[in-house]
Amino acid sequence: MSKCCQVPVAVYSAHCRVCGRKGKSVARRTMEHLLVESAVARLTDHPHFFCATPTCPVVYFSNEADARFYKSDVRVRVGVKETEDPVPICYCFGITEKMVRDEIASTGRTTIPDYIKAQVKAGRCACEIMNPSGRCCLGVVTEIAIRLLKRSDSTRTREEAVAAPMPDGCAVTET
Ligand SMILES: [Zn+2]
Repeated sequence: MSKCCQVPVAVYSAHCRVCGRKGKSVARRTMEHLLVESAVARLTDHPHFFCATPTCPVVYFSNEADARFYKSDVRVRVGVKETEDPVPICYCFGITEKMVRDEIASTGRTTIPDYIKAQVKAGRCACEIMNPSGRCCLGVVTEIAIRLLKRSDSTRTREEAVAAPMPDGCAVTET
């Protein structure tokens, strides 16, 4: 299992001043990898936080530094803040929401959460530098799979459709 999924991550939170919602702490390493060069140049040593509010344009913020980094400051599309394809949901293995939707449309189920879980177990994930949140995607992927399955007209047993509902393949423990 890769380092990012073994090391317990201490989670702090702070309120985003634009949307007012709480954001979780994010490692400087995550931001250095995902911000465009001009934005990295503005990065300070203050603690920074990830704003996961879908409608808020802020991706990272530091209230101490009075700094905000917006979607345009980030090299990748931030899935949680996008509604049009492609909406990335797993950055390590290049999975989009559309891939889950298409699979459900053609087969009535999705194997993607299982696939990601297997990849994570095999130590192939790098969430800390690939995912804008800096955290494992499995919880989010599973949530999206369940939401899309509920929405589909499939008559198959929903319980069987998502074989891996719990993101226990990635042992990031939040304290
Ligand atoms: Zn916000």
